[in-house]
Amino acid sequence: MVAVSLIKTIKDGLNRTRSGFWQKTVGTITGKKSLSALELSQLEEQLILADVGISASERLINAVKNGPAGITALERLKGEMLGILSLDSNLIFQISKSEIKPQVWLIIGVNGSGKTTSIAKLAHYLKDQGHQMMLAAGDTYRAAAIEQLKKWADRLRVEFIGSQAGADPASVAYDAVESAVAHKVSHLLIDTAGRLHTQKHLRDELGKIYSTIGKKMPGAPHLTLLVLDATTGQNAVSQAKLFSQAARIDGIILTKLDGTAKGGIVLAIAQELRIPVLFTGIGEGLEDLLPFDPQVFTDSLLEQ
Ligand code: GDP
Repeated sequence: MVAVSLIKTIKDGLNRTRSGFWQKTVGTITGKKSLSALELSQLEEQLILADVGISASERLINAVKNGPAGITALERLKGEMLGILSLDSNLIFQISKSEIKPQVWLIIGVNGSGKTTSIAKLAHYLKDQGHQMMLAAGDTYRAAAIEQLKKWADRLRVEFIGSQAGADPASVAYDAVESAVAHKVSHLLIDTAGRLHTQKHLRDELGKIYSTIGKKMPGAPHLTLLVLDATTGQNAVSQAKLFSQAARIDGIILTKLDGTAKGGIVLAIAQELRIPVLFTGIGEGLEDLLPFDPQVFTDSLLEQ
């Protein structure tokens, strides 16, 4: 059961999306059992404008058109949205309860996506649940990134490990795992460089981090999370494709959902990448990270 206050927070975070294209979408189909060809093409256009992407839009339109008789077009749309979004998003909750300690989580994504802020929010979220946290500054290309993460660690009163700018990210990651074991923390969140790499560079760099961490702690990293900025629309999907060719991505943190009217990007990501969105960012504060719940998301979007 999702708490009523949480549902309200999610709805507020989705306000721009809800009052944007979705209201029109809902308006087009509410109260109808079936749609005319014109209404179907209007609906498709609205879905595309809301960043749902071609593939997911086609799937949704097909469901509205050919879905089970006896239910409304809106119910068919909702059912198919849930079908697209129902990936294994419980993963993070199973893993956060795992007996293996420390849990080593690698956070990847391009600069500006909200990666540092999301690491801080995630640390706050997990600390609130009684976990002992350590943050590692693996983005060694930018002195400012190291500084920023350290500030968050100080503010959150959690362990921090970093090195000088220019250090080898894989060696920072190695030291971080060693330190996390020594400090007996339950979760180590490792930041990584967020430059827009070439495919080969990205694969080499992440590959080196994976093998180094794995040598220090077999099985680690236990989770790789990709941070994507919802306001970049289809670009976020392209980034996810690029990263998923270089690393095994377990889940996505979708940031800045509060800053876009096009929350349909959640559907595009689920349909095209089959990677679950695990958390959404809906603001700049520490509390503004919410576990993603497909049912609540769908209900919030399609509510009239
Ligand atoms: P990084 O370069 O990827 O580490 O990005 P930062 O964590 O520094 O974030 C870039 C900017 O986006 C900062 O101003 C953050 O406060 C802001 N930001 C991050 N997440 C969110 C979010 O969910 N909503 C909003 N509105 N802003 C966010």
